[in-house]
Amino acid sequence: MPLHPVRLGCVIVAAAIAAGVVAQIATSPHSATPGNHYLASRPVTGQRPTGRPSHPKPAPTTAPVPRSTTRPAATNNQAPKGKVIYFTFDDGPQRTWTPIVLSVLAKHHAKATFFQLGIQIAELPDLAARVRAEGHTIGNHTYDHKSLTTLTPAKVRWEIEHGPKSTCFRPPSRETNAQIAATAAAYGMRQILWDVDTKDWSEPGAASIESAIMHGARPGAIILVHDGGGDRSQTVAALDRSLTRLARNGYRFISLPC
Ligand SMILES: [Zn+2]
Repeated sequence: MPLHPVRLGCVIVAAAIAAGVVAQIATSPHSATPGNHYLASRPVTGQRPTGRPSHPKPAPTTAPVPRSTTRPAATNNQAPKGKVIYFTFDDGPQRTWTPIVLSVLAKHHAKATFFQLGIQIAELPDLAARVRAEGHTIGNHTYDHKSLTTLTPAKVRWEIEHGPKSTCFRPPSRETNAQIAATAAAYGMRQILWDVDTKDWSEPGAASIESAIMHGARPGAIILVHDGGGDRSQTVAALDRSLTRLARNGYRFISLPC
């Protein structure tokens, strides 16, 4: 039975719409999963998967889509770049232990970050320079390790100002608050804390320090150890063994960009 002209028109229009939809899906960069087209046009939050960056084309009538590089709000961590670990050495430079730490790091082709004190650098400027010359970075650990939360804002500024020049700041004993972090930011520094506290300052034994490092090791972890502040022989022994074991597990050791 021949179709009525009006019904025939409807069929043609419906067919044309269907064909258009098929064509749109086929030309969509997300044709495998058309639903992504809509997801992709929304701001992307959280970490994107690794691999090919996604740059959805915003529709002309919508606001520009933020590039999908959003990361969690800056905290103490760097975004991990594969199997890397950030060793950080606090309270130096120290005449005896910093050179020994440097030699252990060199033996393992490891780079690290040293959160140094202004008062120590004033005493041992050549050693501070050597740390940089050997490819490590230096962070600001204040002038002389006062508990910043007990100081007036003016004294906090003084402590930070008289620490080493850096873009990284670590408050002594993790004693900090929003105002202290903001003061550091005003000097162009971001606050860097840590993920793994080895408690090496309490001299718990090299095996205990090594165990803390190995249990805390994961991509991007920041590990706290010390080259200053006391006898660091346990730290050095634990460092040497940990670097061997972690390298065997595929880890690299790099400096924080400070
Ligand atoms: Zn310290």
